[in-house]
Amino acid sequence: MKTHNFSAGPCILPGQVFEEASQALIDFDNLGLSVVEISHRSKNFVAVMNEAVALVKELLSVPETHEVVFLQGGASLQFAMVAFNFLSEAGTAEYLDTGAWAFKAHKEAAGLGSATIVASSKDKNYNFIPKGYTINPEADYFHCTSNNTIYGTQMKSFPETRVPVICDMSSDIFSRTVDVSKFDLIYAGAQKNLGPAGATMVIVRKDALGKSGRYIPTMLKYQTHIDKGSMFNTPPVFSVYVSMLTLRWLKENGGVEAIESRNEAKAALLYNEIDRNSLFVGTAAVEDRSTMNACFLLNDEAHKAAFDDLVKAAKINGINGHRDVGGYRASMYNALSLESVQVLVNCMKELEKTHA
Ligand SMILES: *Cc1c(COP(=O)(O)O)cnc(C)c1O
Repeated sequence: MKTHNFSAGPCILPGQVFEEASQALIDFDNLGLSVVEISHRSKNFVAVMNEAVALVKELLSVPETHEVVFLQGGASLQFAMVAFNFLSEAGTAEYLDTGAWAFKAHKEAAGLGSATIVASSKDKNYNFIPKGYTINPEADYFHCTSNNTIYGTQMKSFPETRVPVICDMSSDIFSRTVDVSKFDLIYAGAQKNLGPAGATMVIVRKDALGKSGRYIPTMLKYQTHIDKGSMFNTPPVFSVYVSMLTLRWLKENGGVEAIESRNEAKAALLYNEIDRNSLFVGTAAVEDRSTMNACFLLNDEAHKAAFDDLVKAAKINGINGHRDVGGYRASMYNALSLESVQVLVNCMKELEKTHA
């Protein structure tokens, strides 16, 4: 019996990708060598990196003005890299505080220079996305988090501003269409919707670089990695390889537009049940609900043991809520099937039948 993996990250990837990746761990390209033991400068691995970059560009329609690199250090290192590369000594940066990750991103910029929080939903435990704030038109950049993994909120639109927009898209990259030309930089840790932990994908507008006027440590400088095609040092070869396979799978399955409608259908199925079922309540503001991470609580904690038993018997994994929110969080990344969401919904219906 299949395990339905609703984990928030590292997350589910397509079964076909796990099969191909396990084969390549033993024998890659009929070389008699594993993909993790060949030189990252061999033509076989260079082809992997080139295909991964090309697929990102194709699937997200990345314009010529932007470049794609694969880095290490997770999205968390991007919090600091963004500040080093974009925040000038005399300038200021603006941050939208929509969750713990956004808050941590702001901390790194504030440690280096001047960084303001333009709006925050912290006093409501980040259960909504602030709107109607104004961005300082002189700011070096505006930073936001498109999807708040922990709280299950998602930005449905991005502010129209002439200030460069930088976005942490770790937990919804490739889940919906996005106009890359509107962003100076997009970053995403691979482990939420792309591949195994270890790689971080960055899309950056080339002519936005080189303006902070700071000394930037070599490894923290985007230009270093652009100039060397993500091979300045040894890249996270396995994570890049599996990410490439996931992107191939996405392309074979109709690309981002097709996955977006499947993701909307999955989210609608679950949110409809959360709203319909008298035993459950959602935690996020309805208009800001994430299609990737759905957070919900039991109205009566007394039903917890019964629901947890149902979920366990159905072989559902990873739906315990984050400690900051409690309750449950069902993450419905690209590779999760509608059928898996239906299994969870059936458990909720069964609980209502037996306990309401
Ligand atoms: C998980 C997550 C991070 C942290 O990612 P790491 O790769 O572990 O550093 C940052 N931002 C968002 C939105 C996340 O979901």
